[in-house]
Amino acid sequence: MNRLGQKIARLIQSSGPISVADYMMICLFDPDDGYYTTRDPFGAGGDFVTAPEVSQMFGELVAVWLISAWQAAGRPLPVTIAEIGPGRGTMMRDVIRTIGKIEPELASGASFALVEASPHLVARQKAALAATGAPLFWYDTIDALPVRPLLVACNELFDALPFRQFIRHDGRWTERCVALDEAGSLQFVAGTAPLDPDAVPEQSADADEGSIVEVAPAREALMVQIADRLSAHGGAGLFFDYGHLQHGPGDTFQAVRQHRYEGIFEHPGEADLTSHVDFAALAATARSRGLQVQMATQGDFLVGMGLLERAGRLGAALDEAGRAGIAADFERLAGPDGMGKLFKVMAISAFRGPMPGFGSAH
Ligand code: SAH
Repeated sequence: MNRLGQKIARLIQSSGPISVADYMMICLFDPDDGYYTTRDPFGAGGDFVTAPEVSQMFGELVAVWLISAWQAAGRPLPVTIAEIGPGRGTMMRDVIRTIGKIEPELASGASFALVEASPHLVARQKAALAATGAPLFWYDTIDALPVRPLLVACNELFDALPFRQFIRHDGRWTERCVALDEAGSLQFVAGTAPLDPDAVPEQSADADEGSIVEVAPAREALMVQIADRLSAHGGAGLFFDYGHLQHGPGDTFQAVRQHRYEGIFEHPGEADLTSHVDFAALAATARSRGLQVQMATQGDFLVGMGLLERAGRLGAALDEAGRAGIAADFERLAGPDGMGKLFKVMAISAFRGPMPGFGSAH
């Protein structure tokens, strides 16, 4: 077992099994050995490739969406353009460049905010964005953002926030926990403490013995913070993640290391841990704050935003191999075998009315 695994084992030995949420939080953010606190996991040499790292087209279309949201909000200035969980800073770089080209009034009146939990990645983002010349500010929570209208975009943020699992065991729901087996290795167990009866979502309450359901209070809490801010001060948000548009039972906990799935307990702190995002739950939270919500698959959204035209324009300046590269990026971002179907996007806004990239509002 690696160093973080041993640390978790000692914690369990001294104070008993820990929840899936606590296990995930320790693995991702332990100050000495956590996944995001110690490394840059992105890109071909890392563990996984995210949409902004696939192609500049992704961040460019996000910028186009942010511009139209700003226009729909009545062109407020000053305004904050924020990204939460910016990774390497690639999407923000493409957003800043594109807004500068298309809407100089917004570019010169906006300040750009990066909300990042990992000091290691903050340093990485500062290096990536130094050359933009834009007014950039870093915060470790969205509550610290200046009080003014906000346009916020996030990619693969919510899947990285901890979630809880409940398991139906002996006819009742219990917290799914991480404990030690006889050999001292980490294993899943059904918790023994009684669960608050309201904890299990109504739609899944009658699921079969052995079923697992997932809820994510930390994701809900972040959405509440964002939604409260938008409803108080105006603006809009755009959130990409893999997940489902409807709630249902199922175990979606996964570990990815060096582009391969592996066991959750194989390399604590060295693998990316995520679960599917329950967009229905996030949408309900945003609606409860009086916001308009629209959802789509990533593929439909990007094509609706003009991905095909953008790919064509970029490809026109390239040779055949370059064009084949752009076509491959297109498939990866929007195709059914790439991120097009599994990934979803949700837009929320304090104003009403249609938003580019989506069908009609609901
Ligand atoms: N958006 C980037 C990175 C996605 S990985 C991309 O698409 O490439 C998740 C990112 O969210 C990392 O930068 C991680 O450090 C950050 N993060 C995780 N929890 C966070 C939180 N509570 N607040 C802010 N950032 C967080």
